[in-house]
Amino acid sequence: MKRISILGATGSIGRQALEVVERFPERLELVGVSASRSVEELGKIVLRHHPKAVALTHPASTDPSRANLLGSFLPPGTGLYLGEEGLVELVTREDVDLVLVAVVGIAGLAPTLEALRRGKTVALATKEALVAGGKLVERAIKEGGGRLIPVDSEHSAIFQCLQGESMEAVDKIVLTASGGPFWRRNPAELERVTVEEALAHPVWKMGKKITVDSATLMNKGLEVIEAHYLFGLPPEKIEVLIHPQSVVHSLVRFKDGAMLAQLSVPDMRLPIQYALLYPERLPSLVRTLDLAEVGKLEFQRADLERFPALRLAYLALEMGGTAPTVLSAADEVAVEAFLGGRISFTRIVQVVEEVLSCHVPLSGETLEEVLEADRWARKKIGTVPIFY
Ligand code: MG
Repeated sequence: MKRISILGATGSIGRQALEVVERFPERLELVGVSASRSVEELGKIVLRHHPKAVALTHPASTDPSRANLLGSFLPPGTGLYLGEEGLVELVTREDVDLVLVAVVGIAGLAPTLEALRRGKTVALATKEALVAGGKLVERAIKEGGGRLIPVDSEHSAIFQCLQGESMEAVDKIVLTASGGPFWRRNPAELERVTVEEALAHPVWKMGKKITVDSATLMNKGLEVIEAHYLFGLPPEKIEVLIHPQSVVHSLVRFKDGAMLAQLSVPDMRLPIQYALLYPERLPSLVRTLDLAEVGKLEFQRADLERFPALRLAYLALEMGGTAPTVLSAADEVAVEAFLGGRISFTRIVQVVEEVLSCHVPLSGETLEEVLEADRWARKKIGTVPIFY
């Protein structure tokens, strides 16, 4: 029996993870759950899964009336934590073996580090945590002996292809990208893209931020950085291919020229289940892939000029230190501004580029530096003239 905490239980990944937990009552026990501010939804999870501890993290949630409302759902003896420190409480409990980190953004970093330092397994869905604090995560693993299992579908695919293989044998990894809704469009048309169009992802159903990131290809850029830290490969060993069918979730090319890929229908419950049950494979809720029905699989080179977000991600890796932190933070603010109707679609990446070009990277080896770079980027973006 694995005892788990789910951070971000009411988000898209969190809800799918709860389906997986429910599917394997003899394997998975839900000990802790957190949400940002959805008290009612968290209350429903408590009634259904009976966790021992819950956390509500949004600053507004510390308001006593909301805490009381949540308290009314809790059976006696259930721990209730308010504010972001609650996440650390949920991961450091003695009775937690595995933590699924699926919160939005850099808030996932501190609990990831704490869990790894205590030797726990972290199933990581929050790529921003690794992008922003990759070096810290590497060190936390060394210090505490914890283990990181990727939940992002591409990285899960690579992780699966690497089972039983040595990293010495790896020549290159190839991340696939669906290309999002716009990759066939003329770049000149992108200026007028609406929020609704950007949120209509052709394949995956996901949260808003990641859906917009998929449309700009910034999501793939962040995934290149994520892959760099997860698998310890230099940027030139990480390639991106556009694959509109989203059936091949990524590939590994070995030194002998052989390539291994992981294929399945695009359904996040599969990588979530793999991470939670690893190394076991059991029948899942996911429909099996019918390759004859798919018919053909296409691949196309990802042009770095056409996809400036991807180019920026490689640039941030090259700059090193806190440059990826800044890339990620600036993107988060820019996407919010786009979703709020304050900037156009094409401005998202332009603004991020502007902020990144002003950044003098710090080493990124302390949490303070990473958080400082994150704050700097969020402040800096407000001074960029084209950000209005
Ligand atoms: Mg992905």
